[in-house]
Amino acid sequence: MSSSRSGDTAQTLILIGLVLEAVEVAVLLGIGLLFLIVPLAGLLALSFAAIGIVWVFLVYLFSYVRVREGDYEGARTPTLVFAILSLITIGLISGILYLIAYVKLGDAAWEAQQRSAWAGATPAAPAPPGLGPKTCSRCRTFNDASSIYCRSCGASLA
Ligand SMILES: [Zn+2]
Repeated sequence: MSSSRSGDTAQTLILIGLVLEAVEVAVLLGIGLLFLIVPLAGLLALSFAAIGIVWVFLVYLFSYVRVREGDYEGARTPTLVFAILSLITIGLISGILYLIAYVKLGDAAWEAQQRSAWAGATPAAPAPPGLGPKTCSRCRTFNDASSIYCRSCGASLA
């Protein structure tokens, strides 16, 4: 407890001056840190951008192109991997979209399988038995004449 009134005033003035200078130091420190961080942040942003370019290329190649070419089964696993990697990194929305796409690819692959099974059910001109390779009536895979079951789908070739 100060006994002098002037002493109290001096103490207050010194405190205000000290706080102002501390604020100035803090501002200078902030500016200094900003200049330290900004070039680094720029470098980081460029690095992430470079990874992003490779990433976009991979998603395009293994998911998009395969789906476009009708290879739903082949696109499924890469799409799931991309979905998980997007979800645990920064692409939350993309991750969710890839995940939905993965489920849809499962449906598409199943539908394609059903379609080919249905197409295979339409009778083809029968090859003479024992002559030449046997064509599977279900999936149209060529099998040896001696085959009993299709080497691709396992259907009976009798
Ligand atoms: Zn078959």
